[in-house]
Amino acid sequence: MKEKKQSDISVLLEYAGNYKGLTYLGLVLSGIAMVLGMLPYICIWLVARDLIAVAPDWTRAQSIARYGWMALIFAIAGIAVYFGALMCTHLAAFRTASNIRKRGMERLMKAPLGFFDSNASGLLRNRLSGAVSETETLLAHNLADIVGSATMFIGMIILMFVFDWRMGAACLIAAVVSVGAMFSMMGGKNAALMMEYQGAQDYMSKAGTEYVRGIPVVKVFQQTVYSFKTFKDAIEDYSNKAEQYTVKVCQFPQALNLTATEGAFIFMIPVALFLAPRALANGTFGSFVTDFAFYAVFSAIVSTALARIMFAASGIMLANTALGRISTIMNAPILEITKNPKEPKDNSIEFKDVSFTYDGADVAAINHVSFKVEPGQTVALVGPSGGGKTTAASLVPRFWDVTDGAVYVGGVNVQETDPHVLMDKIAFVFQNNRLFKASIFENVRAARPTATREEVQKALSLAQCDDILEKLPNGMDTVIGTKGTYLSGGEQQRVALARAILKDAPIVVLDEATAFADPENEALIQKAFQTLTKGRTVIMIAHRLSTVVGADKIIVLADGRVEEEGTHEELKANNGMYARMWTDYNQAVKWRIAKGEAK
Ligand code: ADP
Ligand code: MG
Repeated sequence: MKEKKQSDISVLLEYAGNYKGLTYLGLVLSGIAMVLGMLPYICIWLVARDLIAVAPDWTRAQSIARYGWMALIFAIAGIAVYFGALMCTHLAAFRTASNIRKRGMERLMKAPLGFFDSNASGLLRNRLSGAVSETETLLAHNLADIVGSATMFIGMIILMFVFDWRMGAACLIAAVVSVGAMFSMMGGKNAALMMEYQGAQDYMSKAGTEYVRGIPVVKVFQQTVYSFKTFKDAIEDYSNKAEQYTVKVCQFPQALNLTATEGAFIFMIPVALFLAPRALANGTFGSFVTDFAFYAVFSAIVSTALARIMFAASGIMLANTALGRISTIMNAPILEITKNPKEPKDNSIEFKDVSFTYDGADVAAINHVSFKVEPGQTVALVGPSGGGKTTAASLVPRFWDVTDGAVYVGGVNVQETDPHVLMDKIAFVFQNNRLFKASIFENVRAARPTATREEVQKALSLAQCDDILEKLPNGMDTVIGTKGTYLSGGEQQRVALARAILKDAPIVVLDEATAFADPENEALIQKAFQTLTKGRTVIMIAHRLSTVVGADKIIVLADGRVEEEGTHEELKANNGMYARMWTDYNQAVKWRIAKGEAK
């Protein structure tokens, strides 16, 4: 367990690169600072020794001032060295943090686009910055503290036994009692109670967030907080668990712990009472008092030392959390880029025995699929939800790389094509097109940064976006997502189509969304589709079968396999899955007309 955690830290230190040495220097300095910080206690012992040796003629104690100065110098030197240690660790920590950020970003730049679909980019960014700040704290402060505490602990043990082991042992009793009390609160069957208590706390904060999200509902429906039963229950559960844990488990051990650490010298009194008569008899009473004075002062730092050690240990756990966060990013899949790219010859697309399984999935999303789209042809992918249509389409622009088989564009395996060339050749409109928080103009122009305003305007017109621009306060320059300027799903789809139209790529991959197409939007989207697909090689995923009737070829995908393929007429005659889908579709349309929904 312990070894694994240490290796976590060394893994993190790998990111320090050349600054690794600086971290180590900082750690050594931190240890030295701790030793320097303990030397004044020895000076106190020396002062006590000299004073007692000359008592009661204090004027003879001439070296006292020297020891005083030495103590001061050690204390100041300790602080200065500690400062230097922190300088080193901070410098190294900042560099390490920036290296992690850089490498994380580099890794993400190489990841296939599909990776960002399963891992929202905001979440990835949060993870990365969380890990970076944890690493920073760990390397800048915690590690130095861990080394300092360890040094302090060793120094403490040595000092305890250097002058008089019996009194040292008495000091140690205090330490043992307090550590024992702390472990009894966290170990054994109490550990389960503590976990429950912490779990209840987490749960309460989650329920609280849910509650805050639900406030509009509460207001609208005039409900009281009691309607948020989960939140109320979470609070009550927390309060029960907290009481249970603090009163039943912690009350006694915590009292014991505080008494032992704050009043550590109490344990020395019986020892002193036992030793004093003997010292008197042996004529060594002077040195006995000196030692006693030392331990009385020293026992005060025992509690500080223990607290520091406990605190530092929790820092080690930080390394673990930070690494966990970083690993998703650093282990992101990499899109291999070929060294000798081949030029696609035409605008055809071909799937040759393609299989693809998502990371962590048991079954293949695409299973031995083969088909060809000749240049200028339109091929439609249809089939039940989850059949693999979106997955198949996303293999063309290499959102993912195939697990088996190959996808060819222009007769060249996409993995042997320069990704930029491939991207230039393909325009894609996917279901979850994201518009970024920028003006519509910028959103569309992103497809071709060299495009002029007029070209963007024209693309928007072709994508039937005129009505959208008209109702927006600043037309094309309206920043979407701010001040209530939100677009409906269908409107977003049209802006995304404008983007694809502006790109003017010879190959188009379309994943049509049905969920938000109201009749007006639907008609407009259809028109925009026609503009976009004219004269191009098209793979389209259509949910409304009326759209696919005219396709050169229809491929029915179910459970990742090609169930059927052919033209609309051929498939209808086939009496298979497509024929059934077609019947259902027409039934649904009739039903809508009957209900007066279709326009
Ligand atoms: P369709 O577009 O035909 O509805 P998809 O291609 O979206 O089907 O999905 C095919 C299969 O792959 C489904 O079983 C789905 O659950 C799975 N799948 C889709 N996207 C992911 C993903 N990002 N990670 C894991 N599995 C996925
Ligand atoms: Mg889909």
